[in-house]
Amino acid sequence: MQEGFPQGSRFIEPKRITDPLTIPKPIHALLEANENYRRRYLKEKNIRNKWLASHLLEPIIDGCVDGRNNDLGPAFGEFAGVPLGVITVNRTAGAKGIAGSFGTCRLERDRVHGLTKKDRIALRILLAHYSATNPQTASCAAWNHDTAAAVASVRNSADVLNWCFGGQAIAIHGLMNTDDDSVVIYGPAGELDTRQLADADATTEAIAERLETVFPANRLPASGLYKQYRPIFYREFGELLHFNTLYVKHVLQTKRPLEMIDNHQELAICVGRHFDWIVKYNSVFLISEANRDLEGDFLIALRYTAKNVVIQAVKNNRRDFAVPVLVNVPYNGKAPGNDERITQVFVRNLRERLAAAAAEANKAVVYWLLCGDHGLPSGCKPEWVRQRLLAGIPIDWCASVSNRANRLFIPFI
Ligand SMILES: [Zn+2]
Repeated sequence: MQEGFPQGSRFIEPKRITDPLTIPKPIHALLEANENYRRRYLKEKNIRNKWLASHLLEPIIDGCVDGRNNDLGPAFGEFAGVPLGVITVNRTAGAKGIAGSFGTCRLERDRVHGLTKKDRIALRILLAHYSATNPQTASCAAWNHDTAAAVASVRNSADVLNWCFGGQAIAIHGLMNTDDDSVVIYGPAGELDTRQLADADATTEAIAERLETVFPANRLPASGLYKQYRPIFYREFGELLHFNTLYVKHVLQTKRPLEMIDNHQELAICVGRHFDWIVKYNSVFLISEANRDLEGDFLIALRYTAKNVVIQAVKNNRRDFAVPVLVNVPYNGKAPGNDERITQVFVRNLRERLAAAAAEANKAVVYWLLCGDHGLPSGCKPEWVRQRLLAGIPIDWCASVSNRANRLFIPFI
């Protein structure tokens, strides 16, 4: 019985978790990383404001939930010094988020209106992904590795956005090669490959000049912008692509192991927003909650993560294995009413939805893991693994909300 609620009430008040020992270890490690991010985020406030004041476009990237897209923030500038919080990333399976989702489009509308009020313009970069070394099996699973279909979808999303928000936002589509994180950007009059630009040591100015030809002033999407904004679009988009070339060079230098490129290695699932601090390549599935098929995306992530968690468990003989799932949604500390409480209830609801989806799909997921061709390798199915899986895919849940002002995650039960 909760204090203050009528007898018989089934509502249980959310309570902040203060004892970190009650949080599953892998999630605790994630929350520690969030604490470091929060410190950096606050420290960078001045340079962030400076950056925003000197730029017209606010980059928002739409990428896939695939862990190979974890580092989209660094890939477009954070690696080269763009302050945290400038680049926003939306994540849906196969970057399908915009097309056909009214809820997502409305969220988009609110965001665009917010930016317009501040005389800023959203630069939407919609990215499909594939693997150049292994296009048949290491591209986008949400598109069954059909890269042409994936590209057609982000193009459609870009067209929708440009039609709905032309002048207030500009949407671009492209294809990322997750082997080296280079992108091909498609324009109405050609394309531009940052791997080639990286190899040629192209400067921001040179890239901006190329963009002028690839995105001619008299054709959409550039023609949708006010005339005086077009040169700014070429320059600022050119700057981001230049940052990408620097990141590509870094990736090539560090020689990403083929195993990381080829196989899903995710060991946790994060649902919601404010996960920009998780940038380690191929480590976590990141799924935005404004998603037309949230349960579907979650179940794809659950399969691969369960597989990886079991492989680790067998390696380390950890018989109490579980899939860590962290659900977080930002709240506005300055909103009238108590936005933290509203958000807590919403997050709890999300978790219940996902738990119900997992329970319903349990048989299919277990079958995939134990019997499917792409499930667990034969050495990873000892009796104790079978027994634990057959009782239901074990999941360690953690629910939290994050304050928009400082991005600190506050876990609660
Ligand atoms: Zn994908």
